[in-house]
Amino acid sequence: MAQYEHLIKDNAWPANRAAGTHDDSHSETVVVIGAHPDDACLGAGGVAAQAANRLRVVFVSASRGERGGDPWIREVEDRVSAELLGVELVQWGLPDGDVGLQQAIELIGETVASLNPIAVVAHWPLDSHQDHRNVAQAAIAACRQVPVLLHFESPSTLDFEPALEVDISDVWPRKFEALVAHESQMTRGRFIEWADPLSLWRAWPRYKGRRCEAFAVNHADWGLLSQVLSGSRALSIPVSNSR
Ligand SMILES: [Zn+2]
Repeated sequence: MAQYEHLIKDNAWPANRAAGTHDDSHSETVVVIGAHPDDACLGAGGVAAQAANRLRVVFVSASRGERGGDPWIREVEDRVSAELLGVELVQWGLPDGDVGLQQAIELIGETVASLNPIAVVAHWPLDSHQDHRNVAQAAIAACRQVPVLLHFESPSTLDFEPALEVDISDVWPRKFEALVAHESQMTRGRFIEWADPLSLWRAWPRYKGRRCEAFAVNHADWGLLSQVLSGSRALSIPVSNSR
């Protein structure tokens, strides 16, 4: 594990959150882990922005996304996006396309030990991208004692089985802006064309015209989960094959 210590130290909680928006007396922390710089925002940017009003929220980007563009530009975009959402950001700098399962297990384990989060939100294990799969599997292995472990969806997610749909309508404009901040990906990946209609579809049909994010539940202390989602309009849904 020692060989990865510098990765955490070099990214030690940057002062990129807006001054005065957090109260450090809050010990409750939520960690959202994505393989690449835009993953956490795409999958959970809305819930993160809502939770950041009450809790400490830390985004982790496992890689700098160098296979999808200039890593320095992507790092700046990642920081701007996180600031727009009001969350902290940590980048591990693991190789894009080669995020190792064991590396990820160790780094997530160190993060959990350091931050003692009440909830971790990470990729869904079935995904056509190997980095997403490894981050998801690593989270499952390293978060067995974290009270809440949720999975978010990505454009490459396969056979997603959501158990929660969370109303993010109130923060959608901020999520949209935070996605646009990943400017280098707007023409390359066009992922906003996935996120925009998906948020409407996830609200269908109960909340027509509103916007939702969907999550699968690996395990959850429901009391703490309600703390994470407090202020959101969340509902449990039956899993159906069409969703
Ligand atoms: Zn990704």
